Amino acid sequence: MSQIPLLDLKAQYQTIREEVRQAVDKVLDGGRYILGPEVKALEEEVAAYCGVKHAIGVANGTDALVLALDAAGIGPGDEVITTPYTFFATAEAVSRLGATPVFVDIDPQTYNIDVKQIRAKINSKTKAIIPVHIFGQPADMEEIMAIAKEHNLFVLEDAAQAMGSEYKGRKIGSWGHAATFSFFPTKNLGGYGDGGMITTNDDELARKIRSLRVHGSNPESKYYNSMIGYNSRLDELQAAILRIKLRHLDSWNDARREKAALYDELLKDTPVVTPYHADDRKHIYHLYIIQAEDREQLVGHLKENGISTGVYYSIPLHQQEVYKSLAYEEGSLPTSEYMSKRTFALPLYAELSNENIHRIVDIIKSYYANK
Ligand SMILES: *Cc1c(COP(=O)(O)O)cnc(C)c1O
Repeated sequence: MSQIPLLDLKAQYQTIREEVRQAVDKVLDGGRYILGPEVKALEEEVAAYCGVKHAIGVANGTDALVLALDAAGIGPGDEVITTPYTFFATAEAVSRLGATPVFVDIDPQTYNIDVKQIRAKINSKTKAIIPVHIFGQPADMEEIMAIAKEHNLFVLEDAAQAMGSEYKGRKIGSWGHAATFSFFPTKNLGGYGDGGMITTNDDELARKIRSLRVHGSNPESKYYNSMIGYNSRLDELQAAILRIKLRHLDSWNDARREKAALYDELLKDTPVVTPYHADDRKHIYHLYIIQAEDREQLVGHLKENGISTGVYYSIPLHQQEVYKSLAYEEGSLPTSEYMSKRTFALPLYAELSNENIHRIVDIIKSYYANK
């Protein structure tokens, strides 16, 4: 019985092997290894792709969040509204700057921050909102920007899972005052190591971030420091690899969407809940997430049959040990808590065969048939 992984990066590499090896050789022969021409070219290409003025390469997606919030002036005493249904880094970046994350429950269909519940959590300390386009599904950006305008808040899109997603015909990464991306290998646009990027149309914010990533020094005069910064640079090898992968991203995302549609169709008559897809958004299915009431048993049955799955997210952030002091009671964010017991990801990647999708669904059906 052959195994089906959740994601198969080796299969993807085989499709771009020659292009990548040539690009890597070019960097190694060129002698510039950090923040050189490849990073600059990738920044221009990502800015053009997202339709924004600036893109700034940094060391990873977590740093992208920290640097963007720092450049926006977020610090001790400030509150930042975000979702508890995300990877830990979203809230960690807020806490790392000495600010406090304020969690708003999620929408049960999109799993994104529930915009109807944001206003109730805004007070005089609130400085920013971080919507996360979770699993590749865009958050409700129009409403979020309207709320932010009313209250003069900074909006940072955490787009780590959403490079290529669109909301109302416009790319994710161009809606907020700034947006952050991760190039962690498993992301839709992933490198062969760590990497991250920030996009923005704000010249002053971009200038600050460019300085913060090199110790707060002036990039043109590097021993002159005006801010306490970071060492958070993107390297040339990753940038060269990412430039190649960016050229394939749309076709990979299209393949994911087609395969997601096949799953949707085949799972229609089963008890699992398939992903919601809003008409005004282009979902890129970073993960194909389903809900099952008896998740642990179903995941176990799939595993016994050679199918890998991933549980996202088993502990919502307001219930993490480290945030105990924020004192969210059990049941305070009920939709996040409910979903944390039910959702998980099925295998999905451009190279996954339709035959294997049929096999995975047959295994799910056999689980319910024998229950
Ligand atoms: C992956 C991820 C990050 C962090 O990115 P790294 O590059 O791993 O630091 C942040 N937010 C979300 C939603 C993510 O999925």
